[in-house]
Amino acid sequence: MREDLLLFNSIVEELLKQEQENPVSIPIKAKELYNKLDLSLADDPCINEEFTKVLKDLVSKTPRTASNRFFNQLWGGRNSKAVLGDLLAVMLNTSMATYKVAGPQIGIEKEIIAQICKLIGYNNNSDGTFPVGGSMGNFMALIMARDKKDLEIRNNGLSKKMIAYTSSESHYSNAKNMSFSGLGRHNLHYINCNEKGEMIPKNLEEKIKEDIANGFVPFYVNATAGTTVLGAFDPVKELSNICKKYKIWLHVDGAYQGAVIFSSKYKHLLEGIENSDSFSFNAHKMLGTPLTCSILLIKDKKHLFNSFNNTADYLYQTDLDDYNLGKTSFQCGRRNDALKFWTLWKAVGTNGLANIVEHLFETSKIARNYVRNNSNYTLYSFNNSLSVCFNYKDYDAIDLCTKLYESQKLLVGYGSFKGEAFVRLVTINAENKETDILNFFNILEDFVRKNENLIRKKK
Ligand SMILES: *Cc1c(COP(=O)(O)O)cnc(C)c1O
Repeated sequence: MREDLLLFNSIVEELLKQEQENPVSIPIKAKELYNKLDLSLADDPCINEEFTKVLKDLVSKTPRTASNRFFNQLWGGRNSKAVLGDLLAVMLNTSMATYKVAGPQIGIEKEIIAQICKLIGYNNNSDGTFPVGGSMGNFMALIMARDKKDLEIRNNGLSKKMIAYTSSESHYSNAKNMSFSGLGRHNLHYINCNEKGEMIPKNLEEKIKEDIANGFVPFYVNATAGTTVLGAFDPVKELSNICKKYKIWLHVDGAYQGAVIFSSKYKHLLEGIENSDSFSFNAHKMLGTPLTCSILLIKDKKHLFNSFNNTADYLYQTDLDDYNLGKTSFQCGRRNDALKFWTLWKAVGTNGLANIVEHLFETSKIARNYVRNNSNYTLYSFNNSLSVCFNYKDYDAIDLCTKLYESQKLLVGYGSFKGEAFVRLVTINAENKETDILNFFNILEDFVRKNENLIRKKK
């Protein structure tokens, strides 16, 4: 074991050096992958120098998501305190299902959940869990909402046409979850968004009324706190009033930008969150913990038990069952995703988490202002979002992003809204400073200058 840990340290040393010197690894086309790397598994063991060499090669050729040139997805960077916690979780190798095997790790998970419930204004009757990701958090919320409408569905299956609602800009897991749960993709009704990509409450209410008139059962609204493309916040307060009126479960999917709850300056973006039935966010997105670290909070904990406890009724549980988290989780064996968040939170305090959130919004503002103040750029996204969406001159966003990647310059992705495609710069790496953001634009402009004729123009 000690030998392998030493090897680990030496591989990581090299990786950190490479990230500095070559922040973007050399892209390998999938078709060439097996020619460029020895990934083969054989009858005979691979040992000593050969084994070390293969590992180092693999690591150095893997895309560098923690460098200051990675703006591609809704995570990035590497918080060292959180990495430390996750490495310890690997060594401890507990399962979060029972107190007997996880001991104080259960207390860590419960402390995080309790603190967040307090932050969002859920009372002592609330609870939560750590699903494997935001998609599964949305799934669990959907199931609880379904069961709340009629607990017998757990035994008999569906007997009525039950309708869920989400915005046209929401995450694709909503549709998949309708399929998994037997509720059916067609029973997810998409609500239109305004010009900023926020769900329009009036349209939601109209749709609900129409569905009720048709004899259907509306049961679930998914609001998004940070839509995947534009980073828009649905108006939770207004939506919660509608949900209350029609007795519909309101889930707030904050996977992307839900961590605003930690900042007194930005939590107003989730005004009304205390009126939701459930809320989820990914600490591996804004807070920079390793993947995955996803938290689901439920205002009334009995729904977690009702839908996810398979053996005993909620009423008959002993006190100790509060510490047997398998009773309220999707999985049986479950990885300890709480520890990495706890080591981070413990090390920087709630104020430190607020600083991370505010720093990210500062860097996004720097990027947005750069785009706004430069006539070669067109801006498509809005304030209070970590997605800075733009086009440069009249270049095709998709081609530009692809060529920047193939030339080992930048990892940045593209998106589209209302038929317009654009570059989506995601300023979610908390280690990035103003210089890193300005450097992004310098690299992009320099690349275009040198390759003007190679990059496709927009149609
Ligand atoms: C990322 C994201 C998800 C999915 O989370 P995973 O952890 O990747 O499953 C869901 N909803 C939104 C809004 C997201 O940004």
